[in-house]
Amino acid sequence: MHETSIVNSIFRTLEQEFEVEKLNNMKAIHLKVGILSNIEPRLLYNAYEAFHMTNPIYQKVKLEIEMTELKIKCEICEHITNVKNYRFICDNCKKPSKNVIQGEEMLIHKVEFDD
Ligand SMILES: [Zn+2]
Repeated sequence: MHETSIVNSIFRTLEQEFEVEKLNNMKAIHLKVGILSNIEPRLLYNAYEAFHMTNPIYQKVKLEIEMTELKIKCEICEHITNVKNYRFICDNCKKPSKNVIQGEEMLIHKVEFDD
């Protein structure tokens, strides 16, 4: 399953980044998920619950998912537009643009630890 490998890769990243003692005090993980990323938050939460079965040490770590808006940057006037209803049209000059600058990615935005 797609979401399971995402959860695994999040923890692989964190385990590379932080010491074990730090990871043991991890409280919450905040993700930013673009609406074009093909990630379904509900499935990601489910995959995360399943991940706890095999990794109970992370049981108390909360997962927070924030969906990020879709943004395009116009190639002609460089204006940045928030795309609504999948209308890829520059707000400023009204030309169509497919130059997506936000909304396709998934990133670990913030990790919280107990002091
Ligand atoms: Zn424009």
